[in-house]
Amino acid sequence: MKLQNEDDLPAALSPAASSREPSPPGKWLVAAGSRALGCGLVVFFFQFQAGAQEAPKVFTHADTIRGSNTPQRSWWDVSFYDLHVKANPTDSSIVGYDAITYRVLKPGREMQIDLQMPLVVDSIVQDGLKLRSRRDGNAFFVTLVAPQPARAVKTIAIYYHGKPVTAVRPPWDGGFVWAKDSLARDWVVTANEGLGASVWWPNKDYLADEPDSQRVAVTIPDSLIDVSNGRLRATTRNSDGTTTYEWFVRNPINNYDVAVNAGHYAHWNDNYQGENGNLTLDFYPLDYHVDTARKQFQQVKPMLQCFESWFGPYPWYEDGYKLVETPHLGMEHQSAVAYGNHYKNGYLGRDRSATGHGLQWDFIIIHESAHEWWGNSITMKDQADMWIHESFATYAEGLYTECQQGKKAGEEYTIGQRKIIRNDRPIIAKYGVNDEGSGDMYDKGANMLLTIRQLVDDDTRWKGILRGLNKTFWHQTVTTKQIEDYISHQSGLDLSKVFDQYLRSTRVPTLEYKLRRNKLTYRWADVVRGFAMPVRVTTASDRYEWIRPTQRWKSTAVKLDRPEDFHVDENFYVNAKDLLKPVADSTTARKVQ
Ligand SMILES: [Zn+2]
Repeated sequence: MKLQNEDDLPAALSPAASSREPSPPGKWLVAAGSRALGCGLVVFFFQFQAGAQEAPKVFTHADTIRGSNTPQRSWWDVSFYDLHVKANPTDSSIVGYDAITYRVLKPGREMQIDLQMPLVVDSIVQDGLKLRSRRDGNAFFVTLVAPQPARAVKTIAIYYHGKPVTAVRPPWDGGFVWAKDSLARDWVVTANEGLGASVWWPNKDYLADEPDSQRVAVTIPDSLIDVSNGRLRATTRNSDGTTTYEWFVRNPINNYDVAVNAGHYAHWNDNYQGENGNLTLDFYPLDYHVDTARKQFQQVKPMLQCFESWFGPYPWYEDGYKLVETPHLGMEHQSAVAYGNHYKNGYLGRDRSATGHGLQWDFIIIHESAHEWWGNSITMKDQADMWIHESFATYAEGLYTECQQGKKAGEEYTIGQRKIIRNDRPIIAKYGVNDEGSGDMYDKGANMLLTIRQLVDDDTRWKGILRGLNKTFWHQTVTTKQIEDYISHQSGLDLSKVFDQYLRSTRVPTLEYKLRRNKLTYRWADVVRGFAMPVRVTTASDRYEWIRPTQRWKSTAVKLDRPEDFHVDENFYVNAKDLLKPVADSTTARKVQ
C-alpha cells in the first residue's frame, strides 16, 4: 500500500501545498529517523506539513543498523521463522517467541536480531544454552557460544514480551492496533510497513533476506478469530480462555507482510480457475458486514483475471488469496490482503485520478492485490527502491481500468494522477538507512511506466516485459538496477537515462520548440545529461510521428498551419514549451499532460 488518508488529499492538492512553509525540522527528523513513515501516499501529508524537500535528512547510527546488511547480519541467511505470539487486548500486551532457523553463509560469532523498544527480550536460547546479548537501541547483538561453520543449519529462539508500539495512524504510522469494532468488540491487527516487523516480533528486519517459509501462530481470546498469512493448519482451544490459530506460509514472505488480524469475522470461500490451476479465495469481513462484503468482494475475480493476464500467475497458489477486513485502510499483507476501504469504490469513495474511472472499482482491492506481484513476489532489497512496489502497483490501477473500461480509459486514469505529482524529491532515496523516497513513487512512477510503454510501442512486447519481470524475479528480492536493466534489455532500448530522469531527478523533461513556416525546431530541456528520449508529436493535423530530440536543437519539416495544432502525445509525461509564444504568456508554458 499505502495511500494517503482522505483527509490529507485536499491538503496535498490545494494550491497552498505548492507554497511550502519553512519546515518544522523536528517533525521531519522524526520522519527521517529510525521510526520511518512506512510507505504510502500519506507521505504527501507529512511532506506538506514539513516542507520536506528542503530539509536535510539526518541519518543516525540506528538507521544504519536497521537499514544495512551489517556484519552481524550478512553471515547468516534466514530459512524459517517459527513465530508464536499471544496478544492480550485487556492490557495491550503481547508475549511470545520466534525460533529462527538459518543457514550459515560464513563463520560468524555475533548475530543481530531486531526487536524494537519498548519490547523486552526474556531470553535467547540455542542448543539448550542461554546466550548473552547486548542491546543497541532496537537491535540485540547476540554472542554465540561456539563457532558455526559455513553451510551449517542452526536455530535460535528469542523469547520476549511487552507492550509494543501502538500505531498512531495506521497503516501509515504503524505498529499494533488495539481497535474496537462498531459493536465495541476487540479488533486487534498489525500494520508495520516501513517501521518494520520488529515493532512486534524479533527477526532480521532487513528486506533483502526473506525466510523460505514461516509459521505464524497467534493466540487470542476465544471470542476472536485470527486470520494471518498462508493457510490455517490448526486451531487449538486453550484452557485459559484463549485460542491459538496456527497459520503457515509456504513461500518467502516480506517481514512487514506478516500480520495479526483478530476480530469477529464472518468467513466464506470460493475458487478461481487461474493460470496455475485452482486458486482458493477466502473472505473475512466483520460479521455484520457480510452482505455488503459479498457484493463488494466480487471485484476479486476480475482483478485476478486482469492481473494474471498482464503480470502472469498469481504468485501464491499454495497459500491462497484472502481478503481480511481491518480497522485501517489497507495493506498488501501477503496472501491475506488487509481491507479497510469501507466497501466503497474509489479511494474511500474518491477518485485519485479525478477522471471518474477510479470510481468504477475498489481502490484497496485493486492496488493492494497488485502488490502480490509487485512488492510481495518481487521485493526491493532496500527501502530506497520502493518504487518497484508502488510505481508498478499504481500503474496496475491504470491497467485494471484498461481491462474494465478500455485502453483509452486506462491511459486517462494514469494521466489524471499527474495532478498529484509533486516533484519534491527524487523517487529513489538513500541506500542502507531504511530511507524512503518521494511519494511520487506512486503517481509519477506510474506515469514513467506509461511513458516507457509508449517507447516500447508494442503492447504485446510490453505485456511480455511485465510478465517476464514476474517470471524472472519470481519470489526474489531485487535492486532497482536489476529491474531497469531487464526492461532495457527486453525492450531493446537503452532506458538508463529515462530511469535516471524520472527516478533520480525531480525535473520533468520539457520539449522546447519553435514552429515557423512548417519547420519544427526542438530540443530537450530540464533533463539529465544524455537524455534523448524519442517522443510522438503531431507533424500534420491529426498525424502523430516520432521525433528524436536531444539537448541540441534539431529540426524537421511539418505540415501544421498554426502553432496550436502542435501537440505532444499526452501519454508521455513531459512538458512542452513554445518558445515563440509571446513573453506575457510564457509563465504558463503549455503543459502537456
Ligand atoms: Zn501500495
